[in-house]
Amino acid sequence: MPNAEPAKSSVTNPGQADGNSVLIRGGFHWDAQNAYLFDIDGTLLRSRDRIHFNSFASSIHQVTGLDVTLDGVLLHGGTDTAILAEAFALAGVAPEVWEPHNEAILEAMRRTVLGRRAEMQIWTMPAVQETLAHLAGRGALLGLATGNLEEIGWAKVEEAGLRAWFHFGGFSDRFRVRSEMVADAAAQARSLLPQMTAPSICVVGDTPRDIEAAHANGLPVIAVATGNYSFAELAALEPEACAVSLAELMALITSAGRS
Ligand SMILES: [Mg+2]
Repeated sequence: MPNAEPAKSSVTNPGQADGNSVLIRGGFHWDAQNAYLFDIDGTLLRSRDRIHFNSFASSIHQVTGLDVTLDGVLLHGGTDTAILAEAFALAGVAPEVWEPHNEAILEAMRRTVLGRRAEMQIWTMPAVQETLAHLAGRGALLGLATGNLEEIGWAKVEEAGLRAWFHFGGFSDRFRVRSEMVADAAAQARSLLPQMTAPSICVVGDTPRDIEAAHANGLPVIAVATGNYSFAELAALEPEACAVSLAELMALITSAGRS
């Protein structure tokens, strides 16, 4: 954890009548970090198609002939590689049966999703472009930290028109455990900022798993309730900043008279 018992302060956006829409822990400057690691699904964007989701079962069937679904698998904040392993576990398929096919299944997923990218229906979350522009304008290095496989993650970000903001990324191809993927992304950020001895690196995500993975690495985290979890659910896990969406954070700047 970055701080033992930091003081808390909260700010209510005047546009929201029902309780807090932004909470920032004392001393944390959400837009003054040296680097940011953005989650994709539920944070930057949402895919209204089911192309990525459906690619799990279709790729498993294509490679192994087995019918394995994602029923019962906790998807939100999960890594693609862990979701695959959990789906097999819930289906009662032993690791020694499917793990030899792991790479072939992942490759089938990449080819399936990339082959259908023209059918993707992507919604960008509120104020994403403005937030990325604001942070980049303040000199921050922007990267991804996502449970997506690399090629799939970049394809979604490209389709959303966000590719130009991001210089690097952590992906799940080599990491089933989210905190290990975040550690890899943070290491990339540090290597891209060689002039800084200890750059501040902040995770931005929409699930309890993003918060846990950031804190496991000693990194602060901005949690946004644009995915499957409410503001209250995320705030309870004590992220350094929590907001209904990035728009509420950006509104703080406007209301503070900064540009
Ligand atoms: Mg997410």
